[in-house]
Amino acid sequence: MNTVIVGAGYAGLMCAFRLARLTRKPEEITLVDRAERFTERIRLHEFLAGARAPTHELAPWLAAHKINFVRGALDGWSADRGEISVDGRPVRYEQLVLALGSRTDERLPGAREFGATFERCADLREEIPAIAARNGRVLVIGAGLTALEAASELKESHPSLGVALVYAGTFAPFLSERARAHARRVLEKLGVELVPDARVEAITARGARTSKGELTADRALVCTGFVAPEALASLGLAVDDKGFAKVDRFLRSISHSDVMVIGDGAAIVGDEGIHKACKTALPMGAYAADAIVARAHHHEVAPFSLRDTGVCVSLGRNEAVIQGYGADGAINGPVFTGRLGVFFKEMIARYTTFSLRAESKNRLAYRWLRAPARKTLAAGTEVRSGAAA
Ligand SMILES: Cc1cc2nc3c(=O)[nH]c(=O)nc-3n(C[C@H](O)[C@H](O)[C@H](O)COP(=O)(O)OP(=O)(O)OC[C@H]3O[C@@H](n4cnc5c(N)ncnc54)[C@H](O)[C@@H]3O)c2cc1C
Repeated sequence: MNTVIVGAGYAGLMCAFRLARLTRKPEEITLVDRAERFTERIRLHEFLAGARAPTHELAPWLAAHKINFVRGALDGWSADRGEISVDGRPVRYEQLVLALGSRTDERLPGAREFGATFERCADLREEIPAIAARNGRVLVIGAGLTALEAASELKESHPSLGVALVYAGTFAPFLSERARAHARRVLEKLGVELVPDARVEAITARGARTSKGELTADRALVCTGFVAPEALASLGLAVDDKGFAKVDRFLRSISHSDVMVIGDGAAIVGDEGIHKACKTALPMGAYAADAIVARAHHHEVAPFSLRDTGVCVSLGRNEAVIQGYGADGAINGPVFTGRLGVFFKEMIARYTTFSLRAESKNRLAYRWLRAPARKTLAAGTEVRSGAAA
């Protein structure tokens, strides 16, 4: 079956490699991406602070496994014709899988004009050494995973740079009180200025306007969560308020059940708390391949299920906090910090690319933990929610 997968991120690559392994017909798989390189998004904060680009060239990687690669942007879709448009050129499919990922939510006034984002972080990376040299300041807007990782990484690698974490609402809501206290201590020890209860009203050329007044800075990095890429939001699929495609528990669009949507782009109806995360995208990619093969053989397909075991947050190169979750999603699992935390975080980050390569080389089939049957949580239990950002 001619399968076209759009988006060569964690979800799309996993789906393509697994499908190639299961069907042994890689020539029937086409992966489309507007970029020529796969970006390990989970390492972009390291890149921002000066590390090498965490990217891998797609064409030779896919060619080595006989998977077709079409470089170009998805810009149209005709469900009736079984055809997508890539840079205006038609690409036909029998099975379509959308794995378009997400992008920073830039709905904050001034964000597009004056703000920096991880999608455009190469520019900010270039500017940082000069800003640090004049003891300038960068605002990191948000207090989610990407904000914490960026603020700590920037401050650690450029000690003369002023870094302020500006946020309203709960600091790191995906961590337990103990883990939060540790993250706060590490940030403060590094010299990151914490600016809580400051609702950002606009990003400006001189910093940000907040509910606590004007905060001056050379640049502001927007880490206020993820929304869907424009292409996904504009296809005509049923989407939520952030443009993510609403899917059922089999990861099929609820408006077009013959289209699968995986990775950050998928919003599972009835499981809105699922993290937009690499730890979700890889299992979704593997699941999609399994489901396509099962359906082709008229086998029963079980719904997608994932047990979220926790979150790993780097706090520079020398500190990290690993928060385990209970089987029911409660934020009450073990917490690892210090060198052990750093080790875990690095192993998990390496495991993402290792699992793609292992799947592609037919060495190790990717596996993930399924969620147990749902239980009712005790009143007052903290439960993970929202996006990784
Ligand atoms: C700084 C940072 C740190 C993070 N840390 C973690 C972490 O520690 N743990 C974790 O689990 N998650 C983390 N995440 C989140 C994680 O990176 C994402 O959830 C993950 O990348 C989603 O995978 P995906 O395959 O859905 O999308 P992506 O990896 O974003 O891939 C989407 C692909 O689609 C392509 N695409 C988009 N639009 C088009 C189009 N119109 N046409 C063709 N191609 C298109 C893109 O070029 C891209 O290659 C982090 C994110 C950031 C930014």
